[in-house]
Amino acid sequence: MGSTLCEHCTAVCCRYLALPLDDPAKARDYDDMRWYLMHEGVTVFVEDGDWYIQYQARCKNLGADSLCRIYDIRPKTCREYGPGSCDYAGGSYGYDHLFTHPKQIEEYYHQKTGKKLDTLTEPGPPRRPRPPKKKKSA
Ligand code: SF4
Ligand code: SF4
Repeated sequence: MGSTLCEHCTAVCCRYLALPLDDPAKARDYDDMRWYLMHEGVTVFVEDGDWYIQYQARCKNLGADSLCRIYDIRPKTCREYGPGSCDYAGGSYGYDHLFTHPKQIEEYYHQKTGKKLDTLTEPGPPRRPRPPKKKKSA
């Protein structure tokens, strides 16, 4: 990557992607976030007042040596990101909020509104696992 710092890093920045979320306005928005956080490798964070969802996902272009295999044609997002204040150099980003578990969203909502998020939705019937498909006999 042409940077001494990057040569010492295992490409932390190439192992996730973060996308902006609309600011939550309704209980349903918070409930959706609660659902996001029920999935492995998903976190939600607030930075400078803006909400994001983050997925742990290794870029397919990252080589086993932690170097980009398409460096010369890498996307603009990658070009705009550098070792100045990155995950490796900067450590923690100093999030306004970081949510890693649905309970944290429930607590946040409760603090903000005084209401309980988990009682806003009617419990539906429990989902049953689908029975395995029968194999066709030859
Ligand atoms: S920009 Fe930062 S996180 Fe990304 S590879 Fe370089 S040192 Fe590592
Ligand atoms: S394209 Fe290259 S620089 Fe961009 S995330 Fe993937 S491995 Fe990293």
